[in-house]
Amino acid sequence: MSDEVFVDVTDVKQYFYCPRIVYFMRVLGLCERVTESMRVGRESHEEIRCREERKVKLLSTAIYADEKIFGVFVESRRLRLRGVIDCLACLPGGEWVVVEYKDTYSTRVQIHHYYQLVAYTLLAQEYLNKIISRGFLFYALSGRVFEVAVPSSAKEYVKKTIKKIQRIIVSEELPKPTPTKSKCRSCGYYRYCLRA
Ligand code: SF4
Repeated sequence: MSDEVFVDVTDVKQYFYCPRIVYFMRVLGLCERVTESMRVGRESHEEIRCREERKVKLLSTAIYADEKIFGVFVESRRLRLRGVIDCLACLPGGEWVVVEYKDTYSTRVQIHHYYQLVAYTLLAQEYLNKIISRGFLFYALSGRVFEVAVPSSAKEYVKKTIKKIQRIIVSEELPKPTPTKSKCRSCGYYRYCLRA
């Protein structure tokens, strides 16, 4: 039965930050306290349009490519995975890559963002019917672009993670908290979680 449940790529990102967040979002349907996502939820259509335009403008210059496609929604029935890919780029020479945009400051690749990119790469492979083996993470506020490898092992790992997320949603069992307690300080679900 859990095989039927669709997982959003953002669930994959949240799982790698802390599996409990998937439970709060997908099982209890809770929203974060006032955070970036709630701020975005209150934006007017005009503000959303401006934000999307800014994203496309920044992505247009983040890496050099012969062709770029922005905001591609892909749903894979085979993987039970869906999401909107920020940018698909065809590099000189014909190689396609996923470029993931983060409206945040970072000077390193954050692991939950990396696996989010891997999940988008799985969707991009289906969409383009091509093997994709690297991608780019773009942190807009720090202006840093990181090239990352997306090997088969990472793709298989994310496929297994999709199944774990499905099990959380179907079993409705509260997962163990992240072992990295420092993450809780900036977690929008702390007031629900109250981890010991
Ligand atoms: S407060 Fe900590 S353990 Fe609880 S959901 Fe957030 S990150 Fe996970």
